[in-house]
Amino acid sequence: MFRTRFAPSPTGPLHLGHAYSALVAFDMAQAAGGEFLLRIEDIDLARAKDAWERQIYDDLTWLGLRWPQPVMRQSDRQPAYDAALDALWDQGLLYPCRCSRADIAAAASAPQEGAPLLGPDGVIYPGTCRDALPPTGPRPQGVTLRLDMERAVRGIDAVRFTETGTHPAAVSITAEHLVHEVGDVVLARRDMGTSYHLSVVLDDAAQQISHVTRGEDLFDATSIHVLLQRLLGLPHPVYHHHRLIRDDAGKRLAKRDDARAISLYRSEGMSPADMRSILGL
Ligand code: GLU
Repeated sequence: MFRTRFAPSPTGPLHLGHAYSALVAFDMAQAAGGEFLLRIEDIDLARAKDAWERQIYDDLTWLGLRWPQPVMRQSDRQPAYDAALDALWDQGLLYPCRCSRADIAAAASAPQEGAPLLGPDGVIYPGTCRDALPPTGPRPQGVTLRLDMERAVRGIDAVRFTETGTHPAAVSITAEHLVHEVGDVVLARRDMGTSYHLSVVLDDAAQQISHVTRGEDLFDATSIHVLLQRLLGLPHPVYHHHRLIRDDAGKRLAKRDDARAISLYRSEGMSPADMRSILGL
């Protein structure tokens, strides 16, 4: 069964880029006789707002999209995130990290290191809090937990996934790339008890998503997701990373691009068909 999803974060208005992403996913599901699901990615409770969530439902309904109820909300899923963190902790694959952003930037750009290397999760962690042996005892709460990438890829030569988006391919990312170009990513943030990477993987599995459709900006993060699926014994969906909608200067639209909010186009009298047409759909 073909099943895909659109997974916005209710931290601002949906703009043209979101409309494109949601429509691509919806159209693919329709064409395959499959299912389109909506998921609210509201783990960032400090930034998520009910009003933005309501606006998401409103904008997507206006666009002509329909989805089954109830909608999964990440803020209801902490028990599943905790269970996965426990499983990874028990395998010795996580360690607590007490570094601030400033500590990491300073350590990663120490004179002998040169400019800090960037991975899909920001500056590649220089390993300050990683010990030679995995920590023992129960999993600590209320702290940042990182994946020990070197340990996580032991016995794995590469992670592989099928990409059907802008650049279709059988993608293979080596263990060496994961260690050196991705590094020890955060799986639980101190203030959240989870992270985007962990939640997205567990939720896609729980919703039995067969095809993950999303923007090309997340292509590099997919190696992390496929590795987590492998460590947690979850199935690998097919990935479809679509092109990004850019502004006139060629910059991709960000959350703060309120000028391109769907609601604004709506209030100016644009129809859903007009919107499809400016998006090339
Ligand atoms: N919540 C993510 C975003 O708004 C979606 C990530 C995904 O589709 O995997 O960018």
